Amino acid sequence: MPFQPSKRLQALPPYLFTEIDRKRREAIAAGKDVINLGVGDPDRPTPEFIRERMATALDDPRNHRYPFDEGVPEFREQAASFMQARFGVEVDWERELITLIGSKEGLGHLPLAVVNPGDTVLVPQPAYPVYAAASIFAGGVPYHVPLTEANGWLPDLGAIPAEVAQKASLMFLNYPNNPTGACASAAFFSRAVEFACANDLVIAHDAAYTELYFEQRPGSILEVPGAKDVCIELHSLSKTFNMTGWRIAWAVGCADVIAALAKVKSNMDSGQFNAIQEAGQEALSRLDDVEVKATLDIYRERRDVLVDGLNKIGFAVPKPEATFYVWARCPEGYTSMDLATRALEEASVVLIPGVGFGAPGEGYVRAALTVEADRMAEATRRLAAIDW
Ligand code: PLP
Repeated sequence: MPFQPSKRLQALPPYLFTEIDRKRREAIAAGKDVINLGVGDPDRPTPEFIRERMATALDDPRNHRYPFDEGVPEFREQAASFMQARFGVEVDWERELITLIGSKEGLGHLPLAVVNPGDTVLVPQPAYPVYAAASIFAGGVPYHVPLTEANGWLPDLGAIPAEVAQKASLMFLNYPNNPTGACASAAFFSRAVEFACANDLVIAHDAAYTELYFEQRPGSILEVPGAKDVCIELHSLSKTFNMTGWRIAWAVGCADVIAALAKVKSNMDSGQFNAIQEAGQEALSRLDDVEVKATLDIYRERRDVLVDGLNKIGFAVPKPEATFYVWARCPEGYTSMDLATRALEEASVVLIPGVGFGAPGEGYVRAALTVEADRMAEATRRLAAIDW
């Protein structure tokens, strides 16, 4: 009998980026100068002060042993101080906060702690694909809540049928949002918490991009009074400090959900390397460091070059308030896959077709601000040369 992957793997939605990936590899193999606006991975190095702390931490033999499951107290205390200083959210770090091996790990494991087989999981779309995949792995059934431009890319909670909401045990949210760059207001977060209380479900708010903003500082859902009864929030050092490869993040909020997630994790992993947590502690203690703030100016310049360039071509593209993504509506008559294909074949520019983030992403493409401004300008020049 040929090997069959498990039914849960077979239940995953198809991976729609394969074709673009293949074309990108072909273009590179053919010697084309490809400008990759596809990957949401910072191109700048991790700041030196973090690398220095890591080097010292590596020499400490105490760090060579198994880490603590929930994370080292010093990192968790520092993360709790960040929550207080940045959002005014008081956190009991021993009960309400654990270290994660990247927020993706926390998102991946969370449904195992919250969702029973057959439960509905409310998954907004377009979205980071991990929410739906993790829900399916836990036996949950994703119910896709469409995000639309008309609604400011916020879910219309009132439009979710009552019988669906009542069967749901978990809802994912993500603001600032990947892929749309949208932010949520305090009023929306309040409505979401009310909705969770009314329907007896848990909210997992993915807050990986709260520190990448161009206008107002984005808030935390935990600022809403009572939110800690029903919400957890996932924060990450990946994008803020150019640390995607390090895998360091935390989950914070409802103590019972945090304890359940910690129990899943203690059966799956043994926590993040202590030296990385030490380096992460150093990073968080210096959020206002000039080097970290300068990164925001770099992304802002790239954003302006790209958005102004695309608007000159005739794409109607708003400037995102946060994240390092530009979410551009395709010109009339184009699917997102058509547009991404032409951009790659005729301009050697990689864009991500919005449909890959779920059906409501159709009609849009995502560009990441992860190449230097001069390359961004070159990408817009090449896109402008196409006869759209
Ligand atoms: N959440 C969103 C919305 C993301 O876009 C990403 C990564 O791109 C993550 C979470 C994962 O981040 P981490 O590196 O903390 O696992």
